[in-house]
Amino acid sequence: MSNCIFCKIVAKQIPSSVVYEDEEFLAFKDIHPAAPVHFLIIPKQHVETLSDTAAEHVPVLGKMLALVPRLAQEQGCGLGKDAEGNVSGGYKTLINTGPDGGQEVYHLHIHVIGGPQPWRGQR
Ligand code: AMP
Ligand code: ZN
Repeated sequence: MSNCIFCKIVAKQIPSSVVYEDEEFLAFKDIHPAAPVHFLIIPKQHVETLSDTAAEHVPVLGKMLALVPRLAQEQGCGLGKDAEGNVSGGYKTLINTGPDGGQEVYHLHIHVIGGPQPWRGQR
């Protein structure tokens, strides 16, 4: 897709802060972070929305979702244990789809949003 901003990021025609890259996927920091950690995971292949996926995309979707906990850990918002042994950390995983879903960029992406939330007084 010649006019797609995320395809341009994949092609390195537009700079981004890459957090992960392999043959099929790219992950990069969101330019307008909603939290201390906010990055996007995209397939390098252009797919407009989650609703444009079909059976052939199941492996891509599975691999993309499987990247979430791994990259969340690397980016500092994975699950851990606090001093009392309680589960700590964590993140939101979000796929906006279509106008009513708030999708702005029509190249499938997963938002991973997390990190310390000092305003909650937890850390
Ligand atoms: P969505 O509403 O799910 O389509 O979200 C698109 C996201 O892409 C927004 O959170 C934007 O801040 C982000 N975004 C748009 N352009 C760029 C860019 N050039 N580099 C990084 N993130 C971007
Ligand atoms: Zn694209």
